[in-house]
Parts: sequence; C-alpha cells; structure tokens
Amino acid sequence: MKTMMNLSEIFYSLQGEGPAVGRPAIFVRLSKCNRSCKGCDSPQKDRVEEVETSSVISRIQNYLKTYPNSRIIFTGGEPLLQPTAISEIMNGLPGQLFDIETNGTINNQEELFKRFNIMVISPKKDCFTSSKDRNEFITNWLKISDSGRKNIYFKFVVGNLPWAFLEAEIKDMFENTSLNPSRTWLMPAGDNNQKLSISGKNTWKVACRLGCNYSDRLHIRCDGK
Ligand code: SF4
Repeated sequence: MKTMMNLSEIFYSLQGEGPAVGRPAIFVRLSKCNRSCKGCDSPQKDRVEEVETSSVISRIQNYLKTYPNSRIIFTGGEPLLQPTAISEIMNGLPGQLFDIETNGTINNQEELFKRFNIMVISPKKDCFTSSKDRNEFITNWLKISDSGRKNIYFKFVVGNLPWAFLEAEIKDMFENTSLNPSRTWLMPAGDNNQKLSISGKNTWKVACRLGCNYSDRLHIRCDGK
C-alpha cells in the first residue's frame, strides 16, 4: 500500500541546536503545523510536496551513502501530524538513529515515541493560555518520560519577544513541576548573526543563573542550513 506524506524538504547538515548539537544529520522536514505561532521560525513548513514514503526512504538512503554517520531528524512544522509516515520511514531504515523535534502538543503516540533516540519538546509560548496550562503540559511529558523514555528533552526560546519565554517563566517551571534543569536547553531568539550576538549573551546569562543548558543556533552562526 502506498502512503503519501506532505514533505517540506530533506537536506543534510549538522545539527545546529539542542542536545545533539554538532552531530551530522539528515533533516526530514514535514509540512504544516497545528499551531500558528506569532514568531514562527519555520516558514519552510508551508512548502508542500506530496510524496510517497518509499521515495523519502530512497532519498535518505542516497544521503546515507555519502554521510553514513548521520542521524535522521524529523522536524517541521509539526512532524507528529503525520505519525504513520514517520513510522513507515523508520521501518524502511532499520538500524538508523532517529531524533524528533516537536512542539509537544500531540502527545498521544507513545508507541512511536519509544522508537526515537532523542525527542526534543520545543513549544512556543503561544502554545499556552496560562502558567497552569504550561506546567500541566510539562508534567504530562515528564509522565511519558517516566514510563520508560528517558531521552526526552526540552528546548525553550528565551528573550523579550511576545512569543519567547522569560527567565521568570522558566524558573516557574523548575519550581512548580519536576522538570530538571539538566534536561532543559535555553536558546536565544534570532535569525541572523547580529541578533544572535545580542540575544545569545542574554540567554547565556539566564542559563547560567538557572543552572540549565545553553543552546546556540550554530547553523545560523556558521552560515549552515
Ligand atoms: S509550533 Fe513551531 S512550526 Fe508550528 S507555528 Fe509554532 S513555531 Fe511554527
């Protein structure tokens, strides 16, 4: 049976942010999102190519011939809108490492979650209507993690922008949920070097004060993709 999926792009690069920073990776960006955040940093999600999953598997295999040490990273948009396609791609590439970056708002695919090497949960602030709502979201993911998945990490964009998190909000998550700073990466806002050089310094200081991890956006700093 043919499974069609909505693909935005596939490309090879190094992971520029989060817990796997610097690792060679084949990025599979799935189209579309269930959110429409004000500060969306993935406008590529609106590009839609309808393809069979078998064709995506072939394209990944071609990259793997040249870059055999790559992990495969599903990103978006919101990749978990297409769990069947993701599962089929994983089935077609046995033995590979698969990571995913998700906004975390689709959390009912526990069997699929067990198959990822790393899950990076990266919601934007507009995903939440209140601090209670946000802390329940974190607690739900920690429950999923406690049921056998330890490689679930959180990444938050920090800054003085309406859609980015404030230091006080990150602190509130640490104080009012079981979220551990060691599983948390704070990332500066900014889509060019000039903005990052300012926001990066501020985010670095926040990460130092809160004792959590700092994530740069190395692909932007290094003119990567
Ligand atoms: S969840 Fe991510 S991809 Fe979706 S609209 Fe928000 S920022 Fe963009």
